[in-house]
Amino acid sequence: MYPFSFTKAATTREALNAGRNGGRYIAGGTTLVDLTRETVEWPETLVDISDLPLREITVTERGGLRIGALVSMAETAANRKVRTTYPVIAESLELSVSAQLRNMATIGGNIMQRTRCTYFRDVTAACNKREPGSGCAAREGFNRMHAVLGTSYACVATHPSDVAVAFAALEASVHLLGPDGERQVPFADFLLRPGSTPDREQAVRPGELITAVEIPALPRPLKSGYLKVRDRQSYEFALTSAAVALHVRGGVIREAKVAAGGVGTVPWKLPAVEQHLIGERPLEALWAAAAAKAAEGARPLRHNRFKPELLNRTVERQLRIVGGTK
Ligand code: SF4
Repeated sequence: MYPFSFTKAATTREALNAGRNGGRYIAGGTTLVDLTRETVEWPETLVDISDLPLREITVTERGGLRIGALVSMAETAANRKVRTTYPVIAESLELSVSAQLRNMATIGGNIMQRTRCTYFRDVTAACNKREPGSGCAAREGFNRMHAVLGTSYACVATHPSDVAVAFAALEASVHLLGPDGERQVPFADFLLRPGSTPDREQAVRPGELITAVEIPALPRPLKSGYLKVRDRQSYEFALTSAAVALHVRGGVIREAKVAAGGVGTVPWKLPAVEQHLIGERPLEALWAAAAAKAAEGARPLRHNRFKPELLNRTVERQLRIVGGTK
């Protein structure tokens, strides 16, 4: 055990003041408490933000959705507006972790969770993410679960979140509030690939607080859904996953939003698959041809050579399910 201080912020201003002085924000605590117990993380000051007024899901002026950072995963999945307009979000949440954790964990915390592998949690193993410059035990170790896209020599861990895959597919953005005011960051720029600094995972500036995730309005009707392939049917990370949203009008696909999980160091948007779909009729022959582009650029490791093929098949199956020809 090591000493740390704990403070509860009653207002956003109080939270920002504490954050400016190096405090770490905590709400559900489902990741940070674990990592602190395991001495992987050593926060000196924890700032409890769970009383801040960030618990609403609202429709934006442009017809999109704004999900407050402190809305729990369970509340988000159960929300009627989320379920009817973006079922891909609800499904991705319901396939995540356990019911108990979904009740505690927040949307803001979910997208702030560490990109990690089992070696990250093992303080006796080399891990550039936990201890920059120490090496990466996963490269020569057991790397079946690891990433095949967006990797670097420094780190090959997959991003763990399911709902982040849905956010990436839907081209969401993250609202941040900090000492310099408010800003909105496209989701594609929010989560960072490891490069040579795998310890830096989100484009959050010191003291900034996530206030909401915004999903843009998309043309209607929009069919969407999430498929997760994993070793067991609950409480398990994805080997591969696919978030798909399709807008079909006049018998032609007009909009296609596709992203993959379990394969990238960040949720992996699939623009080549999307481009293959747009302008085409949603017929049986289309899905496999589009999905064949999903794993382009993949660089498997020793134990996960199966992932590119599994990714293609996962995307194909979910395109077929959402596209209506299953
Ligand atoms: Fe650490 Fe990343 Fe290597 Fe895992 S893959 S051991 S998180 S550096």
